[in-house]
Amino acid sequence: MKHLYTIADLRENTLPKNAKLAVLGYPVAHSKSPQMHQAALDDLGIDLSYIRLELKPGELPEAFSLMQKLGFHGCNVTIPHKLEARECSDVITESVEALGVANTIHFKNGNILADNTDGPGLIKALEEDFSISISGINVLLLGAGGGAGKAIATQLARAGCDTIYLSNRTASKLENLTTQLKSEYSASIHELGNSAEEISEVTKVVQLIVNATSLGMKPDDLAPMPFNSLGPQHLVYDAIYSPAETELLKAARLAGAKTSNGLSMLVHQGAISFEIWTGQTPNTGLMRAAISSEG
Ligand code: NAP
Repeated sequence: MKHLYTIADLRENTLPKNAKLAVLGYPVAHSKSPQMHQAALDDLGIDLSYIRLELKPGELPEAFSLMQKLGFHGCNVTIPHKLEARECSDVITESVEALGVANTIHFKNGNILADNTDGPGLIKALEEDFSISISGINVLLLGAGGGAGKAIATQLARAGCDTIYLSNRTASKLENLTTQLKSEYSASIHELGNSAEEISEVTKVVQLIVNATSLGMKPDDLAPMPFNSLGPQHLVYDAIYSPAETELLKAARLAGAKTSNGLSMLVHQGAISFEIWTGQTPNTGLMRAAISSEG
């Protein structure tokens, strides 16, 4: 089994015989989805391989057609193909409609069905990690104008949060998002910048704080929020999972807050995709262990 396959492997059918699931992206060499899904497949005795397919922009329609001919069950789709995956599909779910893009494709009865498990995976992660229901709570979302942040904001509104405070360094990136969320969902939506004063004020009225900025991935990164506003009443979720404990999560833990990192988002979106393809429930503990052990 190679680390990476390309469109040439699909055209010439030089893939492993039982490769019927894949993650498609560009680049995709870093993706941990194969380890995670393979652990679940092996555990359930399902004789399939999950591979990485590096597809250049524009190669997706041909790849889907070849994958259908080769009997693929489905695939995950990541950057930069998520929008095109939606556009190439015959049927889309409500989740794709709401989030605008697809991350899961199911080839079924000659049709291409598109779903988005990122949103539902996030909610499952938050509810399980913190033993809460998202419905009715107040949330502060840091980095709401980024790619992950916009999807998280939409999903929080879909899941019935009462009030969502959207914070972003570049305020202009929130305008369209705020308008869209206000028009489609009942949640009360408020825009903020990212000053310490604005964020501190909001921490007094929220239960959940989600970091969707990229701050915290590197040791010398700035803090995404003032740490002295954190307290034991907070649930703090960092979408970052490497490092496993960012400075934000460390400060939150020391302040007595409950904390969790983005690994659970990754695992749960994968588990929901897995169920779509196989009809079986994977062992999420094993999936998590398969990617945690990679470092
Ligand atoms: P992105 O589109 O580049 O967005 C980055 C966000 O961080 C923007 O809101 C940006 O603000 C903010 N930011 C960056 N540098 C900043 C700084 N110096 N000060 C203040 N804000 C700053 O990235 P993304 O794809 O959304 O990813 C964001 C994070 O989510 C990453 O850490 C990624 O690893 C994580 N993530 C996790 C998962 C998972 O499954 N767990 C999935 C996706 C993403 P501006 O808009 O002002 O630039």
